[in-house]
Formats: sequence, structure tokens, C-alpha cells
Amino acid sequence: MKLHKASAAAAAALVLSLTATACGGKSEENGAGGSGGDKITIGIKFDQPGLGLKKPDGTYAGFDVDVATYVAKELGYDAKNIIWKESPSAERENLISNGDVKFVAASYTINDERKKKVDFAGPYFLAHQDLLVRADDSSITKAEDLNSKKLCSVTGSTSAQNVKDKLAPKADLQNSGGYSECLTGLENKAFDALTTDNSILAGYAAQKEHQGKFKLVGLKLSDEPYGIGLKKGDTELQKKINDALTKMESDGSWEKAVKDNFGPANYKNEPAPKIDATS
Ligand code: GLU
Repeated sequence: MKLHKASAAAAAALVLSLTATACGGKSEENGAGGSGGDKITIGIKFDQPGLGLKKPDGTYAGFDVDVATYVAKELGYDAKNIIWKESPSAERENLISNGDVKFVAASYTINDERKKKVDFAGPYFLAHQDLLVRADDSSITKAEDLNSKKLCSVTGSTSAQNVKDKLAPKADLQNSGGYSECLTGLENKAFDALTTDNSILAGYAAQKEHQGKFKLVGLKLSDEPYGIGLKKGDTELQKKINDALTKMESDGSWEKAVKDNFGPANYKNEPAPKIDATS
């Protein structure tokens, strides 16, 4: 019996060392999970209060952060083993395809163009494109008003694309790397409006330093169903994440995350969308 135990242990040790060799230096990162000790790298926004924000103390907060943390847990990764990677709008597909992140949860709209390069789980949230203007500006009430205005949005976003394609093709549109970069320009009148999802704009308007300065126009210029972006063809991961999102909605964690993160901004969210196994 003793001998048997010893040889089993030796065999286990051998398997372990072989696995470690096979995986090389990356064995700890973005593995299959399950042990609770491996690391996982997840892409989020760092500058969107309410969704994905890196706080001055170095911690992260927001609805996308909570969703990603829940999903990671279901995949077998503890919160302390998450490495957060900033994922600007224009870089999300590349970060996923290159394997820099296991998945992206970053106000990331599911659409056909993006599906050529990545797959999505979800949708787990539904936002709408809207406009943020200065609180005392009543000259912008609909999308067409933007045709004679200076507008700020972000490269690689559906928001910028929609403006060019249909909402206000003649607008003087400047694209930044991130939405937070548009805010100073909006305040000092370099821009007349900032356009993106209402979920993001509500977060900016509610920030202490912005209170009373900006208002949302209150338009629903598009549907923006948020998905979790993952490597194209990884149907196993897609299914696992869809299962995690379904569980998050059914056990009340989704509702709690919405309240915790959007409550302070007084954002009126849409109900949880139905997870679409084919998204
Ligand atoms: N949801 C839109 C998009 O995926 C706008 C927000 C963003 O840029 O993250 O492009």
C-alpha cells in the first residue's frame, strides 16, 4: 500500500513537471483555470466611471468590472488573480486576437463587423447612443443639429461610425483615444457635444468634478448590446461565459451590479437582455 502511494505520487509529480515544461513561462497565465491559483488577463476600460474605472488607489470599479469578476470566478479564477488590461475602443479586437487578454468586457457592442475578427458571449447589457452637452446649451436636441457642430467621440467606436454613416455626416467630428479626453474640450467649448453610449455619458455627468456642468440630451440614437469579446472560434469559452452570464442574471448578481454601479448616476437601464447562444 505504502509503495503504491509513493509511486502514484511520483507519477503525479512527473505529470506536473511535464505540464509545466510544455506550457513554458506562460503556464500561470490565461490557462484553463480550475485551480483558483492561475492568473487571467481581462480587458476593460480604465476611464469610464460606472463601467470600467481605474481608481486613484489602483483598484478597479464598474459594471464591466463586476461582470468580468463574476465570469472569471465561474471560469475558476479568484478576483485576486485577475490582471486588468486597459482596452481602448480601437484596440479591443487586436488585444483579443493577439492573446493579450483572455476576454474583453469594455462597453463592447456586438456587431457583424467585429464578429469577422472576434466572437462574443452575451449580450449582458443594452445601452443606446446619446449626446452629452453643456448644461446651459439648448441648441442641440436631435442628431441632425450636430451637422453644424463640433463633436468629440472615440476612434474605433460604433458611436463615431454611426455619426459618419448616418446620424450627422456633416458634423465636425474629432476622434480621441478615450471618451474622458473629450470632457475638457466640451467644458472649455472646443467641442459642442460628446457622443457615445448613454451608460458611459451618465457616468461622466455624475462625477463630482462635473456636477452641474453637463447634461444628457436623452436620445436613443442606436441599440448597443454589450458582449464579452473572446478569441474567434473558441466556442468552449464562449459557452462557459454565456453560462456564467446566465447565472449572474438568474441569481440576482446582475441586478445588484447594475444598482451598485449605475445607481449613483441615476441611469435608467434597460432590463437584462436575453443571452443569445449564437451571438
Ligand atoms: N459601445 C460602443 C462601442 O463598442 C461605444 C462605447 C465604446 O467605445 O466602448 O464602440
